[in-house]
Amino acid sequence: MPNDSKRKLRVVTIVYWVLLLYIIAALGWWAFSLLHQNNEIHDLRKAVLNPSAADYSTQQNNIEEARRRGIYKFLGEGSAFLLLILLGALFVYRSVRRQFRLQLQQQNFVMAVTHELKTPIAVARLNLETLQKYNLDEEKRNKLVQMTLQETLRLDTLINNILISSQLEGNAYRLSKEELDLSDLVKDVVKNFGARYPGRQVHPTIQEDVDIQGDAMLLKLLLSNLLENANKYSPKEKPIALTLAESSGTITLEVADQGPGIPDEEKKAVFEKFYRIGNEETRKTQGTGLGLYICKKIVKDHGGEIWIRDNQPAGSKFMVQLNAQV
Ligand code: ADP
Repeated sequence: MPNDSKRKLRVVTIVYWVLLLYIIAALGWWAFSLLHQNNEIHDLRKAVLNPSAADYSTQQNNIEEARRRGIYKFLGEGSAFLLLILLGALFVYRSVRRQFRLQLQQQNFVMAVTHELKTPIAVARLNLETLQKYNLDEEKRNKLVQMTLQETLRLDTLINNILISSQLEGNAYRLSKEELDLSDLVKDVVKNFGARYPGRQVHPTIQEDVDIQGDAMLLKLLLSNLLENANKYSPKEKPIALTLAESSGTITLEVADQGPGIPDEEKKAVFEKFYRIGNEETRKTQGTGLGLYICKKIVKDHGGEIWIRDNQPAGSKFMVQLNAQV
């Protein structure tokens, strides 16, 4: 966390605790004073009682009863106030922390996007300048063109993710529900992925003729984000397994890698917007924390579910379940 944010969070936390303790102490003092007052009234009323009066014992009972009622009333009201104050305090505490976390993640996002936008442009520019300046042989030329193409594709995915996430969020994107052959769509994405990463082994098991009603562009983005992550977060020599199957109206899509896996306590959080595991200083991979957020949004918009399991023997397995007829 940057020092400035840390300092602000510390100040806010101190002010919060001081205020909360003051409010609780004031409430305690209020309860104490009222109980004390109640006792004093009780003693005074008792002192003016005439012991020789005929209804002395009835009056005495009434005074005791009034004292008891007073105690119950003040303790009851005090506990209700205390409960409300604690609930309010918990709510404020959680909102403030969430706000700080979001602010921090947004800062990281801006830093990451700036870097992710600049790098492919710089690489593409350098490659094109090299091609322009030198008369390279065909093999070198092809390699440079291939590298440039990869960088522009990376840029394209990044920009798509940013645009789609803001459109999906603002409901500006109209989901089209067309009849699709999901098996063909998945094969298509795997083919494109293979062209982008020729050295990477992908083991697909794709059931034929799995049909779905959905948005082709979004479903492709879903799968390519999952494959991109499997590629990014697992060693280059380890294969990625992909499965598409349908059984009694439920479609299951799985992408499994043999990377470091995702700890149980992070399995939900990685689907949050801008969320990335680890901290900015130690993280080696580039990214924006938008990919899985978009995946979840796409799956939800198609009426499905997405979750993570541990892959065996190692890595993570992303599970998507969709309805064959949405
Ligand atoms: P990005 O990859 O741009 O950081 P994502 O939303 O795609 O954003 O992923 C969020 C985080 O989840 C990543 O930063 C990474 O820490 C973790 N993650 C995603 N996919 C995998 C995976 N296949 N293996 C291990 N960790 C992963």
